[in-house]
This record gives sequence, structure tokens and C-alpha cells, in this order.
Amino acid sequence: MKPLEQLLRPNILRLKPYSSARDEYSGEEGIFLDANENPFNAPYNRYPDPHQRKLKRVIGELKQCDPSSIFLGNGSDEAIDLVFRAFCRPGVDNVVSIDPTYGMYQVAAETNDIEVRKVLLTPDFELNTEAVLKAVDQQTKIIWLCSPNNPTGNCFHEADIKQLLTTFEGIVVLDEAYIDFAPGKSLLPQLSAYPNLVVLQTFSKAWGMAGIRLGMAFASPDIIQILSRIKYPYNLNVLTQQKAMELISKNKVATEDWIELLIAERLKMAEHLKQLPFVHHVYPSDANFLLLKTPDAKKIYNYLVERKIVIRDRSSVALCAGCLRITIGSPEENKALINQLSGLQ
Ligand SMILES: *Cc1c(COP(=O)(O)O)cnc(C)c1O
Repeated sequence: MKPLEQLLRPNILRLKPYSSARDEYSGEEGIFLDANENPFNAPYNRYPDPHQRKLKRVIGELKQCDPSSIFLGNGSDEAIDLVFRAFCRPGVDNVVSIDPTYGMYQVAAETNDIEVRKVLLTPDFELNTEAVLKAVDQQTKIIWLCSPNNPTGNCFHEADIKQLLTTFEGIVVLDEAYIDFAPGKSLLPQLSAYPNLVVLQTFSKAWGMAGIRLGMAFASPDIIQILSRIKYPYNLNVLTQQKAMELISKNKVATEDWIELLIAERLKMAEHLKQLPFVHHVYPSDANFLLLKTPDAKKIYNYLVERKIVIRDRSSVALCAGCLRITIGSPEENKALINQLSGLQ
């Protein structure tokens, strides 16, 4: 890896962060006349902890990771945007991304005026590490990976990911939004072995908390410090921080049960879908969704929407002609989908 000073945008390296009232005094007791807050309407009158200390301790324990290696954001989307802003000079630097993958990397790149060099996965959706490395040049700051990948559903080989981590001299972001549904392991326990690795995870999927917006980035303390310096000071509101701590302790066991049930439903759904004459292929999935190939994705999508069942048409995405992506729902929801599809000729 190149030294961080060479990878970061020079203006970010120089940046002196905003110092909030709560930065200068962080005790919990006292008469607080420092932040121009309203003394009434407690507890909502107070600004949240900008460093999210309590929540990071809880998540650190959950993930077996030191709080100094954790960034928390308003969904993973915030971390994605901040990584671009920390490392990529608009109109100058570029990133390499796989294709197909999650659309937010492209959107965040475009809003920051960063070129995305897309490298096709192999026909069976594996990483083409050689092509990824070939797309890299002096201005490439980040390689974006997603495993299990959205929308293909598969995990990449750990050896392929590690080859990129050790060969590429910039930052490798590994989005593990669906890792809880995968048989393979997270790279999180190996974080300290790869100073250029940024792992993204989220509470939106396995934990069922998409509504409270809470995403995580894990990386070396040096990288985490940079992301923390450039975020909005109060990026996580009081409600999200409180609710997350409450639900993490309340749902630890339930989450394990949900994951188990959703994986069982995924297997069942795959079997049912394979029986349908217009389903040409159900791709293996390590996530909470299935990707299937059909002769006419639009027709099936419209047929289901008319029956108030909404799935995702991915047929315009690279390597995914005719493909639909179906999220695994509750057993009742999945049954309703199969029932409706059985009526389609
Ligand atoms: C759903 C998803 C996320 C989650 O994003 P949040 O902003 O945390 O809700 C992240 N990455 C991928 C690939 C996803 O599919």
C-alpha cells in the first residue's frame, strides 16, 4: 500500500475539522450552556454524541473490533460517499469497480466527478482479478468490491479478494452488506493484516433496521480518523443511536433466527422457481435474494405488479439480460409470489 498521505486528497490531509461544543467538553453531567440548545423538551433538545462512543462500544463488542476501527454513518451510503471524498480528486482520480454491482458506487462517483472503470465479472459472476488489475493506473485510488455481490448474489473467492488487497497499492473497499446470509466468512477479523482494506456492513439487511439508517465501515484507525473528520459532526441523530443500542441487545437472538429462516426460505424458493417453465435459471445465492433468468423479465415484472407484488427488474444490467431479482420475504409473502407465478403461462 502507498502511504496514506499519498492516497488522500491533499485538501483532506490538510483539513482542520469543525470543533463542536460537544468536542470540547464531553462529560455527561453539568449545566450545559455551551451549544445554544433549548433547555426544554428533554431529551430531544440535546445534540447527539458526535463520536457515538456508547454505540461504538456496543458494536465493537458485537463485531469483536476496537471502536477506533469503526466508522458509523447514515447508512452505508454515507460511508461510500465519504470514501470517495477522502481519496479521489474530482476530475483527476479514478476508481475501478466490478460490473454488475450495487448502483450506489457509480452514483457517489458521479456526484463527486470521479471516473469509474467498470470491469465485467466472468460469465459465472466471478472476479476477473487480472482484468481488474489491468484497469488500474497511477490515478486509481480505490477498487470497489461487493461480496456477496448485489445483484448476482454470490460471494467471491477469498483468495481473489486477497490477491487484489496485496497487489493493488490503493484502497480496497469490500461491501459485506449481505455477509450474514453467506456461508463464507467476513474479512473483518483479518482487518489488521490489510491496512488498505475498508469493510462495509449495515444494519439494513440481516438486522432488519433499514428504517433507522445505520451503516458501518471498518478500517485501520488512520483511515477511520479521516472519515470521522470529514463527516457531518452530528451525522447520527439521537433517535438512531438510542434505537440501535436498544434493538441490538433486544434482537441478538432473533436476528440469528431470521437469518436461518430466510436462508431456508431461499433454498425452498429456489426449488419452487426452478419448476416454473419460464424460469431458465436460478443463480446460486449467498444473500437474502435470488436472481433468475427468464425469457421476458418485463412481462413477468408487470404481471406481478398488477397483482401487487413488487420485485426488481435487473434485465438492463451487465451480464443480467432477462434477469429478475427477488428478495426473500416472510413464508407467507414467498408463498403468495409462487402462487401468482404458478398462474402465469
Ligand atoms: C442494501 C445494500 C447496502 C445497504 O445500504 P444502507 O445505506 O446501509 O441501507 C449496502 N451495500 C449493498 C451492496 C446493498 O445491497
